Amino acid sequence: MSNIILLGPPASGKGTQCQLLLKQREYSCLGTGQVLRDEVHSGSELGVLIESYLNRGAYVPDQLIMRMVFQWLDNQVSGNWLLDGFPRTMAQAKALEDYGYTPDVVIGIDVDQMSLEERILSRLICSSCSATHSRNIVGSGSCPDCGGVLQVRSDDGIANFRNRFKNFQQFTMPLYDFYESKRMLIRVDGSHSPAEVFRHISKLL
Ligand code: AMP
Repeated sequence: MSNIILLGPPASGKGTQCQLLLKQREYSCLGTGQVLRDEVHSGSELGVLIESYLNRGAYVPDQLIMRMVFQWLDNQVSGNWLLDGFPRTMAQAKALEDYGYTPDVVIGIDVDQMSLEERILSRLICSSCSATHSRNIVGSGSCPDCGGVLQVRSDDGIANFRNRFKNFQQFTMPLYDFYESKRMLIRVDGSHSPAEVFRHISKLL
């Protein structure tokens, strides 16, 4: 067992791999994108602020996301944690370390931009359980996991995706070198099916 960070561009399958890991091992898991979307849906003042970033495909400010993540980590009494989508900037990675939380393994999922764009155009999210599915596989009916309504994620337009991808290249890619230099990084080819990617990850852990 180990503490794990999942890194990867938008639609690379971080959330899906996170769910598969949770079925196999006991982790406390935090998906920062989902936490932010839940805050938006709550209609709070903070949610309105967060939505203004998500709608533009911009990262939310470091201080805001760090406060949420550190509070969550402090409330984990025991066991291992799995972070999906945090850290995403060097400031976040360094703050996590300074705060005393060190990952054992950082999994970097690689997928090329063209494949990501194809995925984004067919991606659906369940409004009940938040699982992600591809329209190409499940059609546009109900969620195969829980029967909930499948929707297009509001930030999944192509222009928004390109902003998020640019941010990933500019702000998140440097984290690969940061964790590589600490010998924590393992990279996996995320272009295969979720089950194949998961088999690869399981072998490496
Ligand atoms: P995701 O569900 O991981 O694709 O995240 C959705 C959106 O939430 C991202 O495009 C960012 O705008 C925001 N977000 C999630 N995690 C972070 C983070 N660690 N730092 C800044 N913004 C984040």
